[in-house]
Amino acid sequence: MAALEFPPRVELARRSTPLQFLARASERWGQGHRLWVKRDDLSGCLLSGNKVRKLEFIIAHALAEGCDTLITCGGLQSNHCRATAFAGAQSGLAVHLLLRGEEPAIGEGNFLLDQLAGATINCYPKHQYVSELPDLFARWQDHYAGLGRKALAIPTGGSDGLGAWGYIAACEELASDLAAAGIDSAHLVTASGSGGTQAGLTLGASLYDLPLTVWGVNVCDDEQYFLDKVAADRADWRARFPGVPSVTAQTRVLDGYVGDGYGIARPEVFALIAELAALEGLLLDPVYTGKAFQGMLAELDAGRFRDCRDIIFLHTGGVFGVFPQAQQFTFTGADMRG
Ligand SMILES: *Cc1c(COP(=O)(O)O)cnc(C)c1O
Repeated sequence: MAALEFPPRVELARRSTPLQFLARASERWGQGHRLWVKRDDLSGCLLSGNKVRKLEFIIAHALAEGCDTLITCGGLQSNHCRATAFAGAQSGLAVHLLLRGEEPAIGEGNFLLDQLAGATINCYPKHQYVSELPDLFARWQDHYAGLGRKALAIPTGGSDGLGAWGYIAACEELASDLAAAGIDSAHLVTASGSGGTQAGLTLGASLYDLPLTVWGVNVCDDEQYFLDKVAADRADWRARFPGVPSVTAQTRVLDGYVGDGYGIARPEVFALIAELAALEGLLLDPVYTGKAFQGMLAELDAGRFRDCRDIIFLHTGGVFGVFPQAQQFTFTGADMRG
């Protein structure tokens, strides 16, 4: 492949993140497969997770455009909003968050962190958020323009043709990871929420000719939604960067693990999070990675990955999502009564 021409990028993430072999998890669940984890939860403490990879390109774009403010949106516990709040603070940009839901009396988890990072926050009831989001963005952008300022609107999850570069670049990193680990063919599984990570990985795996089959486990909506969303992000990438090579890679979704809705996990997901934490010292979250890991194991059981020995789970972060749902975990604890 001719060298890819990347758009400008600011350095925010800790790279390269490790690719680690999970010996005990492989023994417990692998059925002969080797299970690996790509530790994007280690991309930084407060910037942790997948969103910082996208934000490196988004913030470089904001700076190039002369913006002084970032506006973005998400749920009250959005990891993307928290990462944007801290990335903005680290880059000297103001951050304005449009959040879905009633403003909590006391901030916890990511909401607390958004406040600490000095973000301006507006909470909107779900029905208003859903029906008026584009208007809300436009209204706040006008507001800043009226003050002589300039605000960049960042879509949900930072997922569009610009944010896609984050995981295209990650594929360059994965190429060396695979070589170092001696992996010549693998399945790669990620949680998919707004599709940008999956879009970037699907493009990047093809552009770098990686021996990876990329799967997104959707944590909301359904397969068709993500096929359409990833296609839209890929089309946006091509439209915004007309010189990029053409890519025909198939988008692959593992549907069936949403449970009772976005952000709502079943007891077995909480049990799996606790089991993996104790087994490997690896912490998942109930909104994204816990469901995706559960989906990966269920598909492994069903024989989905039988053509490759190696399976890589992309740990996309989300640790702060554990705390607001603390009451959902059950522990048996030590019993010394014998
Ligand atoms: C946002 C997020 C995802 C999903 O990534 P998308 O690019 O939005 O699909 C997965 N895991 C975590 C922890 C996230 O915060």
